[in-house]
Amino acid sequence: MNKKQKIYNKLLELVKEENVKVDEMLRDHLYTKLGGKADFFITPTSYEEIQNVVKLSNEDNIPFTLLGNGSNLIIKDGGIRGIVINLKHLDAIYSEGNTVVAQSGARIIDASRYALDKKLSGLEFACGIPGTVGGALYMNAGAYGGEIKDVLDYAYVVDKHGTLVKRLAAELDLDYRTSNISDNGDIVVEATFQLKPAKYEDIKEVMDDLTFKRESKQPLEYPSCGSVFKRPPGYFAGKLIQDSDLQGTNIGGAEVSKKHAGFIINKDNATTSDYISLIEHVQKTVKDKFGVDLEREVRIIGDDKD
Ligand SMILES: Cc1cc2nc3c(=O)[nH]c(=O)nc-3n(C[C@H](O)[C@H](O)[C@H](O)COP(=O)(O)OP(=O)(O)OC[C@H]3O[C@@H](n4cnc5c(N)ncnc54)[C@H](O)[C@@H]3O)c2cc1C
Repeated sequence: MNKKQKIYNKLLELVKEENVKVDEMLRDHLYTKLGGKADFFITPTSYEEIQNVVKLSNEDNIPFTLLGNGSNLIIKDGGIRGIVINLKHLDAIYSEGNTVVAQSGARIIDASRYALDKKLSGLEFACGIPGTVGGALYMNAGAYGGEIKDVLDYAYVVDKHGTLVKRLAAELDLDYRTSNISDNGDIVVEATFQLKPAKYEDIKEVMDDLTFKRESKQPLEYPSCGSVFKRPPGYFAGKLIQDSDLQGTNIGGAEVSKKHAGFIINKDNATTSDYISLIEHVQKTVKDKFGVDLEREVRIIGDDKD
């Protein structure tokens, strides 16, 4: 029996057969519609299953990677070795008093809508962010003046030893589009948001306004990974890119959006190499012209194609 078959058999002892896929094409799970295959792609249905997979990964030295909604990731054309864990089956959302509790596979947009229904204010900013709750915590996602850090009370994570642990928001080092979740090797499984009671109409008005702004400014009709770069101190990435005359520039099928300079869209069957080359071209052009370093917000992971 080869090594891959052995790992598959062990995974079947931990996760239901229908939730273990081999050689899964990751582009089908990513917003950019790019990326190669995962050796194993699993979708656990309980925290215990996740804990057991982490223990297996430690014992047999098999790497694992978390994949949320794939809205802030570029995966290389050679794909990902080891196990990709996706928590789409863990997507419950409920409320307790003024808190909303969401499992990390739930979409943050759905948590935001759920809060609206419960007349709880604080998650309006997230009404158009297309990630999961887990991905939103990892990135400390934010928009229009709000961010996860403002509303997160605590999270439950499966730590690198496979133990379920409660982490207070303050322990996660949430900062501009970053956290210490990957440094600690944590898998976020659940988040509790502390919100404030408000009128339904007031919350809805804010969400409608933000949705209008987003739809009128962002190229949502094309696959993309949102804003590619972080905001450099004292500047706006989009403005620097615009002033460098880069909008409409393309490499292969990837193009700097004409609608929003901070977005790179997959216009016509781009490869990951097209995307990465265009990102580097934008960084170099802006550096040459304005002397500003554009740091990537989007994460690039996986292997190059042989
Ligand atoms: C059209 C568009 C608009 C966007 N607008 C915004 C915006 O306004 N504001 C903003 O902040 N972002 C925005 N984004 C980016 C993206 O939606 C956010 O960064 C989001 O939080 C990523 O969540 P995800 O589930 O897609 O994560 P993924 O892209 O799947 O993963 C991102 C990182 O999180 C890790 N991760 C995912 N789940 C877990 C987990 N459960 N435990 C531990 N680690 C995990 C992954 O390993 C990866 O490193 C936008 C993207 C698009 C495509």
